[in-house]
Amino acid sequence: MKSLGIFHSSGLITNNVIHIDLEQYNSTEVCSAFLVTTPESNVILDCGTSNDVPTLLTHITTNLRISLKKIKYLIPTHYHFDHFGGGWFLWKQIKEYNPEVKILTTLKTKEQLQEPTLHMKRAGRTFGNMIGEMQGIPEEAFEIIFPDEEILLPGFNETQSLSLVPSPGHCDDHVCPTLFNNYETEFMFLGEAAGTRMNPKNLLTLGTSMPPEFNFTTYVQSLERLIKFNPKNIGLGHFGVIKGQEFALQLMKENLEFTHHFRTFVKDKYEEKNETKWIVDQFIEHELEGRVDPSQIDMRFLTRIIVALVYGQLIDLGFRKPK
Ligand SMILES: [Zn+2]
Repeated sequence: MKSLGIFHSSGLITNNVIHIDLEQYNSTEVCSAFLVTTPESNVILDCGTSNDVPTLLTHITTNLRISLKKIKYLIPTHYHFDHFGGGWFLWKQIKEYNPEVKILTTLKTKEQLQEPTLHMKRAGRTFGNMIGEMQGIPEEAFEIIFPDEEILLPGFNETQSLSLVPSPGHCDDHVCPTLFNNYETEFMFLGEAAGTRMNPKNLLTLGTSMPPEFNFTTYVQSLERLIKFNPKNIGLGHFGVIKGQEFALQLMKENLEFTHHFRTFVKDKYEEKNETKWIVDQFIEHELEGRVDPSQIDMRFLTRIIVALVYGQLIDLGFRKPK
């Protein structure tokens, strides 16, 4: 699908970026990963849950015909199970072919990845047995960098560079892996820093205000900063790619607007009636239209997500305590 810049297939985005549908939860168009590729090395951005790792590896070796010996780095946008829960397993698998492979990340994400127990317990309440397995990762797997620090990849020309743009808000360790080329932002992987897109036909978004870490103020500040990068192409964790500066900006600005709107909506409804389920029902009834394609989504699953989005907002507003 190419209208409005929307690109949902696995495939080439720019000369150096490949989009991969992880087929998470055995469904297409749920979770995206990316490969940054040069003639000499490759970097995997996000990898999904441990259940998604075999799909990802098969895609890389069979469809893209890239040798696992040439995977240099694995980079998470953030530590959550659906984005990098399978990181430990992916690292183990690739290490068999390239003993030098590293998880390249910030100290914040590394600390979260090494202590996944509480996160998995909380995630299990919303997503049940879909979350796969997260195991602690040995120290030797990591190479630590600072946010915004330049990552020089073998095979890049002198005008290309990669860095992790800090983007806290959805959670505190969130970064956006970003590829610069010729002083322009060629590609920015937004992860969950600019919402999710669940309707494949338009550029409307939903939020990522998951409990317990969502912080409205830092989320908005991060997104305002990301917009200033003026990316030519963006990737979303959920889901796909928006090609072209105009459409990329349209989506990011829409999510900024939605974020403010959703905040006000939850606050107003809470003041009317202090009951999470009622607020969720009000949102589904009055605010969801256009943001999802009802023929393509499991409403029970979606309702669980909306409960989480409302609850995260209520915690950040100070109306609820984290469980
Ligand atoms: Zn997340």
